[in-house]
Order: sequence, then structure tokens, then C-alpha cells
Amino acid sequence: MAEYKAPLTDMNFLLYQVFNADKMWQQLPQLNEQVDQETAIAILQECAKIAEQKIDPIARQGDEIGVSFSLDSDGRGKVKTAPGYKEAFDTFVEGGWPALGGDVNYGGMGMPKVVSAFMEEMLCSTDISFALYPILTAGAALSLAKHGSEELKQRYLTKLYSGEWSASMCLTEAHAGSDLGIIQTKAVPQADGSYAITGSKIFITGGEHDLTDNIVHLVLAKLPDAPAGPRGISLFLVPKFNVDENENLAERNNVSCGSIEHKMGIHASATCVMNFDGAQGFLIGELNKGLACMFTMMNFERIGVGIQGMSAGERSYQNALEYAKDRRQGKALDASTKAIKQPDSIMVHGDVRRMLLNMKAFNEGSRALSCYIAKQLDYATFGSGELQQKGDQLSALMTPLAKAFFTDLGFESTVAGQQILGGHGYIREWGQEQLVRDARIAQIYEGTNGIQAMDLLMRKVVASKGALMNVFIEEVTDYIESQQENPAMSEFTAPLSAALADLDDISKLLLTKSVEDINEIGAAANDYLHVFGYTAMAFVWAKMAQVSLSQQDSDAKSSQTEYGAEFYQSKLHTARYYFNRLLPRRLSLLATIKSGSESLFAIEDELF
Ligand SMILES: Cc1cc2nc3c(=O)[nH]c(=O)nc-3n(C[C@H](O)[C@H](O)[C@H](O)COP(=O)(O)OP(=O)(O)OC[C@H]3O[C@@H](n4cnc5c(N)ncnc54)[C@H](O)[C@@H]3O)c2cc1C
Repeated sequence: MAEYKAPLTDMNFLLYQVFNADKMWQQLPQLNEQVDQETAIAILQECAKIAEQKIDPIARQGDEIGVSFSLDSDGRGKVKTAPGYKEAFDTFVEGGWPALGGDVNYGGMGMPKVVSAFMEEMLCSTDISFALYPILTAGAALSLAKHGSEELKQRYLTKLYSGEWSASMCLTEAHAGSDLGIIQTKAVPQADGSYAITGSKIFITGGEHDLTDNIVHLVLAKLPDAPAGPRGISLFLVPKFNVDENENLAERNNVSCGSIEHKMGIHASATCVMNFDGAQGFLIGELNKGLACMFTMMNFERIGVGIQGMSAGERSYQNALEYAKDRRQGKALDASTKAIKQPDSIMVHGDVRRMLLNMKAFNEGSRALSCYIAKQLDYATFGSGELQQKGDQLSALMTPLAKAFFTDLGFESTVAGQQILGGHGYIREWGQEQLVRDARIAQIYEGTNGIQAMDLLMRKVVASKGALMNVFIEEVTDYIESQQENPAMSEFTAPLSAALADLDDISKLLLTKSVEDINEIGAAANDYLHVFGYTAMAFVWAKMAQVSLSQQDSDAKSSQTEYGAEFYQSKLHTARYYFNRLLPRRLSLLATIKSGSESLFAIEDELF
């Protein structure tokens, strides 16, 4: 496997030249106090060092050795992480990284999402398994900070931010995955105001491990008299060890790990069966509003899972590029090098270039889009008035997009990288097959990509009667208009405009069809999400092209460009590649959507 190199230049290009994050920070008082360009650059540089030097080296043995399960002296399940994980985690904690995005009132650093999203990318590119422990903890802390009582926040948040404790998210049960409304875990009110939690959760990431002294589980459960379905779900905090009033660890709670799963990938991440046997739990937020509280965490995690997909794609690209430059097979089709006996590098072959450029365009496009969505989340969290409202609307609309689109493209990129390595991509030695195995889960957990597509089309587009999508369409329309006086941009804005018009048309068509036949929505959802994805990615590629063109102009006038002329040339080439060869994918998706649902539902179940 090629050594990981964090794409810091690209990150800084996005933050300060494309999305003007520094200006946003100055505009929002809460952020203005916490962060400026210099601080953010230093943070990302330090994070790159940890990722490259501390986490990257443990990923391979994490995959090979994985986590192991045994019973402690009391017969409770315990999980040992792979060699090197505890040391790497301790280094991560010593650096203060678990506090990065945390609430400043409880020891957090209050950094915006646009910065923490890039930290997540670097962690995931080096080792998704490792990254899951702190990323899930950060998501749980966010939910607690937003919905927890003051007492709970005082008792638990500080230790989650300090990294002394970690957290897990306990939703899934054996019979209830996508459909959380049918969970059976019970919460019985106790005289002291706490709840006795009883039930079994499966597939719980980081439910048990040896990295931290305590694990704080956020658990979905129902009171005995709760309304049926999703409206009867409440959220509880259930610590592995109870905590006394001085915030010291007290007696062990009745929650334990029953077993761990043996999986296709992310072997160093503990995926646990968690049994709650009358464990003491504390309500977070209001009774029966647990799903809404959990969604604070899930929305955060969903963007994080999208970033996971992109991170695996980035790593795949770095690995495949190094291999392709080195590997010599066959000759270029054009005759120029045929006289020389030695075979050419496989970089000369159109098919290899296609796969490399697909990966490059998807990775850089996803990174830009994730930065755009993170910026909307920051407006939603730290902004006010119209800015906040728009940030809220756009982040709600684009969260399922980020999760599903980036993970689909990320997986495609890991497979493309594997293909570039030929047979060497399939065997263990080169590390590429681990990327394929590790990336695959991101399309499944945190709500499958099928569920994300339904969330986008049903809950965001149809339920708002198109209003949320119109916010996006207006934003892009304004951008295209702003470039009308810039002829150099027309090669990008003209196809972007056509894609936007098609997105608008298909959204309206589906709104009409949803009234006539609701099955049209289920049939169209996945393709619709991808049409939206390719269009949104074209928007950010146009923005990147615009900056690159203007930087080239300033270079021509012989002033120094910020990142060097080659950086902008590469961006422009990749932008053109995206518009010429990837954006057209939307056309076949549109044709599929328009073909309707009939052929999907006409066939009787017995005929499958
Ligand atoms: C490694 C790993 C780690 C995990 N970590 C956690 C964790 O930390 N915490 C946690 O709570 N859970 C976790 N999960 C569980 C994960 O989130 C679920 O597996 C996932 O949400 C899907 O649920 P399911 O497996 O029950 O599939 P099902 O819900 O049974 O879905 C099966 C198929 O049907 C489709 N489907 C179902 N309902 C619909 C619908 N209404 N419309 C369209 N299609 C539908 C799905 O898209 C899927 O293709 C983890 C799972 C794994 C494998």
C-alpha cells in the first residue's frame, strides 16, 4: 500500500479559495472567537501528522488481527483491540482531538464542521476501523450536548471530550434495523427518576473495547405504555460504569457485550451484541421524542459515513496511482513509443486513465461537496436569521445525499483502484483488497443507501412539496447567473444549467406522480438521489474551475499563485473530465426514472 499523504493543499484550496470559510467564521460571532485561518491550517497539519504517522501504520495489522472477544472473571464479555490501537488512541487523546468539534462550555474546542469534517477524512483514509471509535463518540456527544439535561452534560460531556470515555449508538435489534418503530427494548421508570433498560441490541460499533475507562451508550427504548411505532421511542444514556456525583467511576452497570461479529471488513472495529439487563439509564430529551434526539447524532454520523466512503476512494486513488506509474505492461496505442522495447507504464492506457480520472474527479468532487454541506451545517448551528434557515434547509436536503452518493462513489473508486492493480489488487500483499472490504459497509450502516434515497425523495422533496429542492435550485441558478459575464466559465455553466433544469423537471414530475401512484417514489428514489448527486457535484466542480481559471489568469500576470500553477491546471483538467465524461451519467438515470414503476411492480412475487 502506498504511504498515505493527506490532501492538505486541496483542503486549504476548498476552505479559503472556493468556499471562503474564513469569511464565514468572521461573520458568525461564536466561530469568530474560536477559529481563524491560521488556527485551522495548523489543526489540519497536526491532524495529518497523526493520521500519517500514528494511525496509518497500525491499519494493516488491525485488519489482520482484528478485535478479539473473551469473558472476564465475572463472566462478562470483554473486547481487546488489535495491537497498537490503544497506543494510537492514547496519542490521539493526548493531542486533544476528541474535543475538536465539542461544546466549549464543557471542554470542547468548538471547531466548525468544515474543519472537523477534514479531520474525519484523514482518519478514515488511514483506517476506518480506528476512526469509528472517536467519530461515534463525537456524534453521541453532539446529541447529549443538544438534548441532555445540565446534570447529564456536566457528568458525561467533559469526559467524552477529554477522550477518557467513549460512546456507542444502540439502535438496531435483531428484528429491527431500518424500521426502528418496532424495537422491543424496554425502559421502566424507577423511583429515583432513572429507568431500568432491558433488551438486546445487535451490530453495535464500539459497544465494548479496551480503549477507554468507560463507555457511554445512547440507547433507543420504549416505555411500557409508549405509543406504538416511531412516536413511542425514547433515548437513554446508559453508562458501562455508573458515575458518582464527583464524576468518578462507581459500580458496574447491568450492560454487557454478549459477542462480537465476524465481518467482511473493518476488522479492527468492534461490532457487538449488547445486552441490557435492567441497566440504569437516564432519559435524554423528552419522553417519546427519542428518534428526533437520535437524529441529531445520526445526521452528524451520516455525513461522517459519506466522508468514510470518499476517504476510502482517496486512499484507493493514491495507492492505484503509485502502482500505475510504476507498473509496465503493453504499449501505448499511438506509435510514438513503440520503437522502444520496454513496455510502457500502464498510465498510457485509456482504460487505466479512465479509472484514475474517475477516482480523482469523484474524490475531489466529494471533498468539495462535503465542504459545502459542512458549511451549511455550520450556518445552521452557529448562524442566525436567513443564513441559519438556509443552512438548515440545505443540510437537511443534502445529508442523505452525502451519505449515499459519497459511499456509492467511494466504493466504486475502491473497486476501480483494485482493477488498476490487476491480480495484485485481489491479493493481500498490496492492501487494496482491504480498502474494498472496508469501504463496503458504509453503503449499508447508518441507514442503508436505499433508506437514504427514500429519505431524500419522500421526506425531503415530496413532504416539502419541492420547497427544499427549490432552495438548492435557486442557489445554483444564482451562481450560474453570477458567471454570465465570465465567458471562460460557459463550458461549465452551460452543462450545469442543463443538468439543473433536468433536476428541476424530474423533481416536479415525481411530485405529480407521487399523488397518482406512490410506488413511483420507491421505484425512482435511488436513481433520483444519483441525478441530484451528479448535478450537485457539477455545481462544486464549476466553482473549483472558476477559482482555478482566475488563479491561472493571475499567474499569467506573473503574480504567484497560492498553490502553484500545476495544482490549478490539474483542477481544470479534472473539472473538464467530470463535465465531459461523468456528468452525462445522469442522462441514463433520468431515462430509468421516466420509465416508471410499472415493470417493477407488475411481476407477481411468485414469479421471482
Ligand atoms: C458493521 C456494522 C456496524 C453497525 N453499527 C451499528 C451501530 O453502531 N449502531 C446501530 O444501532 N446499528 C449499527 N449497525 C446496523 C446497521 O445500521 C443496520 O444493519 C442497517 O441500518 C440496516 O438494517 P438491517 O441490517 O436490519 O437491514 P433491513 O432493515 O432488514 O434492510 C434489508 C434491505 O431492505 C431495504 N429496506 C428496508 N426497509 C426499506 C424501506 N422502507 N424502503 C426501501 N428499502 C428498504 C434495505 O435498504 C436493505 O436493502 C451496524 C451494522 C453493521 C453491519
